[in-house]
Amino acid sequence: MQLYRVQAIVLNSYEMRDAHRVLTLYTREKGKVRAVAHGVVKPTSKKRGAVQPFCHTDFLLRRGRELDSVSQCEGREIFPALWADLDLMSYAGHATGLVDRLTADGEPDENIFSLLLSLLRVLEKTKDPELVIRSFELRLVALLGYLPYLDGCTSCGEAMPGPDNYFSPWAGGLICRNCRTPGVAEYFCGREAVSVMKALLAWELATVERIRVTRQAGAQIKLIMTEYIKWLTERRSGPLEFLEKVRDYKT
Ligand SMILES: [Zn+2]
Repeated sequence: MQLYRVQAIVLNSYEMRDAHRVLTLYTREKGKVRAVAHGVVKPTSKKRGAVQPFCHTDFLLRRGRELDSVSQCEGREIFPALWADLDLMSYAGHATGLVDRLTADGEPDENIFSLLLSLLRVLEKTKDPELVIRSFELRLVALLGYLPYLDGCTSCGEAMPGPDNYFSPWAGGLICRNCRTPGVAEYFCGREAVSVMKALLAWELATVERIRVTRQAGAQIKLIMTEYIKWLTERRSGPLEFLEKVRDYKT
């Protein structure tokens, strides 16, 4: 019997038959881990709160042949405001979903753990979750090695922002009008959007809601980050799946 302790944020919690739950955890010590919690959905169970999504919990896990299981758990922070507001809950769910999709099992990254924990703490108090989430997305992709290049054209090197800037998910940053590739999806990114994206990366997460942004620039950044993350997710799904997609496309 092998037991180990982790500090974790619950990314997902799926209810199974017989009152079991399968949890996806992002742990400080071991990265993403899946574990089964036996009997936790019974109303009498003390573990119940600590295994809900977004909860910051100490776990004692037991190594299993296929899945590890929860031996003990104790919630540190349960973020009640996120559970009381449907909008905040969906923002928190978006963030935990991104960490789940963009990280591999068993690859620890203390910075990602701290970023997600900070995000949940800031969401719990914020009045403008939209900018907080954009900042989280930018920081997460940066930690994964995909910091967007925002100082010049990724192709010709021309200093930017200029009058006409686009963002290329494929190139991982800005691209000028002359370097745009026909048929490749690139997204308009005005001067304001560029400077707000820089501020979202530079300012403390707890202060980004003070950044002033027009609706137009906010919409540009949202589209850019959605498409950039979609591109990264497809890239991470692996060369085999990619080849299958190409094959499906051809036939
Ligand atoms: Zn260029």
